[in-house]
Amino acid sequence: MPGTDVVVVGNGAVGLSIAVEIARRAPELHVSVVGPVERTRAASVAAGAMLNCFGEVTAHTRRHRASEARFAIARVALDLWPQWLAELEADAGGAEAAAVRASWSEGTFVVMGSSSGRIAGENFAAMREAAVELGEPHELVDPEQVDGLAPRLGQRPFQVLHLRREGAVDGRAVVTALERAARRRNVELVPATVRSVLRASDGAVSGVELRDGRTVSAGAVVLAAGVASGALADQVLPAGAVPPMLHGTGLAVTVKRVNTGPRGPHVIRTPNRAGTCGLHVVPLAGEDEQYIGATNVIGFDPAPGVYLGLAQTMLRQASEQVDETLAVSYVQRWLVGTRPIPLDCYPLIGPCSIPGLLFATGTYRDGFHSSPAIARHLASTLLQNSPEDNDSPFTQFVPERMPIETTSVSEAVEGAARHAADTMHDQGTQMPWWLDHTPLEEWARGRIRAFFESLEEPVALLPEVIDPQFLDPAAIDTRSTDRLRRYLRAARLHHGA
Ligand SMILES: Cc1cc2nc3c(=O)[nH]c(=O)nc-3n(C[C@H](O)[C@H](O)[C@H](O)COP(=O)(O)OP(=O)(O)OC[C@H]3O[C@@H](n4cnc5c(N)ncnc54)[C@H](O)[C@@H]3O)c2cc1C
Repeated sequence: MPGTDVVVVGNGAVGLSIAVEIARRAPELHVSVVGPVERTRAASVAAGAMLNCFGEVTAHTRRHRASEARFAIARVALDLWPQWLAELEADAGGAEAAAVRASWSEGTFVVMGSSSGRIAGENFAAMREAAVELGEPHELVDPEQVDGLAPRLGQRPFQVLHLRREGAVDGRAVVTALERAARRRNVELVPATVRSVLRASDGAVSGVELRDGRTVSAGAVVLAAGVASGALADQVLPAGAVPPMLHGTGLAVTVKRVNTGPRGPHVIRTPNRAGTCGLHVVPLAGEDEQYIGATNVIGFDPAPGVYLGLAQTMLRQASEQVDETLAVSYVQRWLVGTRPIPLDCYPLIGPCSIPGLLFATGTYRDGFHSSPAIARHLASTLLQNSPEDNDSPFTQFVPERMPIETTSVSEAVEGAARHAADTMHDQGTQMPWWLDHTPLEEWARGRIRAFFESLEEPVALLPEVIDPQFLDPAAIDTRSTDRLRRYLRAARLHHGA
């Protein structure tokens, strides 16, 4: 195949946004995007996609410079979206632009339900505090006044926060429009899968090899293949250089209402909950269609599927906590996608020690929202028309690093034990009347401590990464722990930590 200036590996929201942004700024460059047409389990086409920034704030967000930096990127994206969508519509044109416009909804209502756990409550409080402190337009509203919020009796929210600027787009419509925009900007879309990144004799990247044996030569390669980026990076970088990429499998469903009145015209969601994301109901373009999401189970390997029990809980909670009439809506599509989650849960963005190789991945649960900010940053870095600013939040996320630790190990154990007890409550555990949650937390603490001790020299992992290690019977086989131990040894050696 002929050569190109930049090859972007991955055709999700992140890869396509980067390609479009480079093509806008440097039309003289030849840019290619390589990715399979079917996008099996791609995160971007399973996402709602909520464009939430303050809606994603947790009690942890403002407590460490890495989480503050991720929040700063999300804030940049929040400001960018209106203009980004206008440019996308102009670039894509036609039915694709119309589909994006029709799917764009403004406003997110975050509900604090009467059955919520402690972690959700703390996250709700932190979200409101951040909105007040940073002057984000918001208000507490009367739950009765929120269109589309009709929970079951006994599940009525006691607080609802309206985030005026945060809304949603249809993830699938945006990806289709990005593809069309890319084509119209002369980006070449290569329907294939990359097998490996190629290097020249001087060590710099020289292109990629495709699974069908063809090669695409290029002066720069951007790794934006979502969860698959980890394995591609591991082929060319030394063991331990980059935190391992975990698979965050999520299920969502789109539904159609019939004879149950109009849907709410905005996002209704919970705060992020213990060990998982927030439950969310998102309006789709059709006036009677909605998206319900999402589950999240994190593991080292691709999950064989989605637990039926989790699917059951998600659907029950959506109809109990958000809108009873969802139970009598009709299933349209089940969506399964995999979030790219580095071990430390922070993104991998920017250049690495291999000249010409850049990362744009590891976006976890808000990569759709952050994609315009990531695209602009990557385009600037690649085109070097704005040198890296040391204060840029992106400098926190250099791909070659030891896992970012935002707490001590003992705090991580305590945090994970609290999350575990809350998760069990959220999943339906009921204690007898004479016991509170303490025995659950103690049981979890013992198992989590044993897990950390088995790592020899542990790092402080976040609760959502630890949970499956002891709650999921399939993960208790020591394979994940062995891999983690091996990675930590290699990382310490590589980074001299
Ligand atoms: C159920 C669910 C709900 C979510 N909800 C939201 C939300 O509301 N808001 C939000 O901001 N984020 C949300 N997220 C997270 C968000 O979807 C991701 O952070 C983001 O979409 C990641 O985009 P990406 O382009 O990096 O990865 P992906 O979308 O996974 O795209 C990667 C692409 O690379 C391709 N690829 C893989 N291997 C190769 C290879 N070897 N060669 C070439 N191409 C390859 C894949 O086919 C895929 O198309 C959600 C995720 C899930 C799963």
